[in-house]
Amino acid sequence: MNRKILVVEDSLTFRNYLEQLLSQVGYQVFCAKNIAEANAILLSEPDLLCCVLDYCLPDGQDGEVIELALTHQHKVIVLTALFNPELRENMLAKGVVDYLLKDSTASVSYILPLVQRLEKNQQHKCLVVDDSQTVRNHVVQLLEHQYISTAQAENGAEALVQLKSDTAITFVITDHDMPEKDGVSMIREIRQNWDRNRLPVLGLSATDDATLTAQFLKAGANDFLNKPFNPEEFYCRVHQILDMKEATNELYRMANQDALTGLWNRRYLFNQACSGCSVRNIAMLDIDYFKKVNDNYGHDGGDTALITIAKILSLYFPNDIVARFGGEEFCIQACGEFDDFASRLDKLRQRIEKTTITHNDTAFKITISIGAAPSDVSLEQQIKLADNRLYQAKEDGRNRVIFN
Ligand code: GH3
Ligand code: MG
Ligand code: MG
Repeated sequence: MNRKILVVEDSLTFRNYLEQLLSQVGYQVFCAKNIAEANAILLSEPDLLCCVLDYCLPDGQDGEVIELALTHQHKVIVLTALFNPELRENMLAKGVVDYLLKDSTASVSYILPLVQRLEKNQQHKCLVVDDSQTVRNHVVQLLEHQYISTAQAENGAEALVQLKSDTAITFVITDHDMPEKDGVSMIREIRQNWDRNRLPVLGLSATDDATLTAQFLKAGANDFLNKPFNPEEFYCRVHQILDMKEATNELYRMANQDALTGLWNRRYLFNQACSGCSVRNIAMLDIDYFKKVNDNYGHDGGDTALITIAKILSLYFPNDIVARFGGEEFCIQACGEFDDFASRLDKLRQRIEKTTITHNDTAFKITISIGAAPSDVSLEQQIKLADNRLYQAKEDGRNRVIFN
């Protein structure tokens, strides 16, 4: 992902402060102290995440640098020492992301979450639902100014069809009064398939019916905004919705992912119903003599081996569920013919046998034993059978797959 940022600021102290603030968290910062330098950077660096620009510079005191960055189609955050409401409106109307006062470190430190928001916005796509083309255009433009991609629907019915077909959509902004299906009814239907965290909805309406806010919220909207709205309030609501969605995703990931290898964990596997296929195969895998790896190469060496094995498992079963069950034990859930599954497992076993693991300049090899079970029983029973076969594989001399 593009993490380049242009900072144009004539005050050395302030420029250094911004550069430090942003580079500390991994952004690549290009600094300029005037328009001439900024221009050179804009020409040599066409791909920038955003530009943080001082309104008043020695070679352009009237926001010229902003015009320049906007002509290069960049996202612009304006810094200014003077607060002028008219100028602020003007800037926001031109598509500037935000207009910040340099009056305190608190307001300036707001740049960091804002830049991070811009970066994360690129993963989001909003479905904008409104029967008015003008409103849709306005909302779409505001969203796209902050890297949020968009889709549009003219009414609730059309929106529901799009939601089913376009899985990239991450949230919805909707009007209420629309032909075919109104916003509140649409939200009720959305909530039958997606909860508030999976697909947040922001309601938007121009009505003076005071009960509409409650209707929206009770139907399952995450938030509500009256039309006409101030763009800054709009952005605050959208950011809040996206922050919440991302935090929920992160919690889900932490609860379901193994921290060392990044594979799914046992909890995830048991909660994951196999959808859309009738044949669910299970394999239990266990590294052979892993205690010796720890004894010979240290716990770190053992961890390196676990990470290496996890990568190979994901490589060989990219479309299946690969979980770390605990310690040096893994489980694979894969759909399809059992015979195919068994032969893929044996290819995996051979690959692991041939793999050299390097840790602190030492190289070693390990093997893995595997038990596999087809899908005529419950998941628990299937895991038990696979586990018995795994122990059979150990008994029979390790480094083998037992599948019957
Ligand atoms: P077998 O071939 O019978 O499976 O022998 P083994 O030594 O692999 O099996 P055993 O279950 O006796 O030992 C597993 C070892 O795995 C013991 C434990 O210290 C180690 N282990 C478990 N989790 C981790 C981990 O996260 N990192 C490291 N480095 N070692 C771990
Ligand atoms: Mg200045
Ligand atoms: Mg073992």
